[in-house]
Amino acid sequence: SIESLPDAYQVHTKISRPWKYRAGQYVYLCVPRASYSAFLQSHPYMVAWWYPYDKDQDIVVFIIQRQKGFTQSLPTSSNLSQSTELRAIIEGPYGKEIHLDEYGTVLLFATGIGIAGQLPYVRQLLENFHNYDAKARRIVLFWQVDSEEHLQWVGQWMTDLLEQDSEYVLDIRLFVTGNYITNGAEHVNYRGLDVENLIRSEIEGRKGRSVISREQVREAVRQMLDKDIHLKELPFHPL
Ligand SMILES: Cc1cc2nc3c(=O)[nH]c(=O)nc-3n(C[C@H](O)[C@H](O)[C@H](O)COP(=O)(O)OP(=O)(O)OC[C@H]3O[C@@H](n4cnc5c(N)ncnc54)[C@H](O)[C@@H]3O)c2cc1C
Repeated sequence: SIESLPDAYQVHTKISRPWKYRAGQYVYLCVPRASYSAFLQSHPYMVAWWYPYDKDQDIVVFIIQRQKGFTQSLPTSSNLSQSTELRAIIEGPYGKEIHLDEYGTVLLFATGIGIAGQLPYVRQLLENFHNYDAKARRIVLFWQVDSEEHLQWVGQWMTDLLEQDSEYVLDIRLFVTGNYITNGAEHVNYRGLDVENLIRSEIEGRKGRSVISREQVREAVRQMLDKDIHLKELPFHPL
């Protein structure tokens, strides 16, 4: 199904083959009936989430930002009848997982739709922490959006992750730079990410070795890199 969100879609795809889901995976997605030319197009999308459908099948979810080509107007569940099933062709998965389990502090930076690639890392780190497979004692996800409505893209999953986090290792920091709707919501910063200061204050109180992600952060981190602070980048980092 395709759910409409502000400036984006959540595409829930039933998977008919066995698949070992890992953070960092992306696929080429083609939805032939999405529009006249859609059958000719396939685009890469990060696997943002997954959940069981029944005992044999899973649902994989992609978050697709609305742009001017294939994504401009996809047929959503609200304008299709309930029984209409859209077929999707998926090629993959591709992508190389970044191994984060050895780090005590993990700082993840995302802007806009870049969140799609970061959430699976948060999920996996928390799962591995609970199975004693990850050393992370502090995971901070910084997410900047340019419209407050975009927080809805992944709102429920963030709540799920925070509920699973019984040991309080996860800290989610939201930054909104425009199109305010509440202007005063708790846990939301109404300003842009001040990358350098955020990293400095985290590094001062860090636990164990540290790893930092996101391209925009590169310059801020360059001077701080040492054998205990590493910078890793995901394959998809929108501007
Ligand atoms: C590894 C990877 C993962 C991605 N994951 C996501 C994701 O999770 N969510 C998301 O919304 N987008 C993601 N993208 C971007 C996405 O693949 C498409 O670029 C976008 O959805 C195209 O939409 P459109 O046809 O409406 O774009 P248009 O309005 O036609 O173009 C928008 C921009 O995308 C560029 N573009 C178009 N097609 C491609 C393509 N096949 N490959 C690279 N650039 C292209 C154009 O040059 C333009 O700059 C990812 C890209 C990569 C490379």
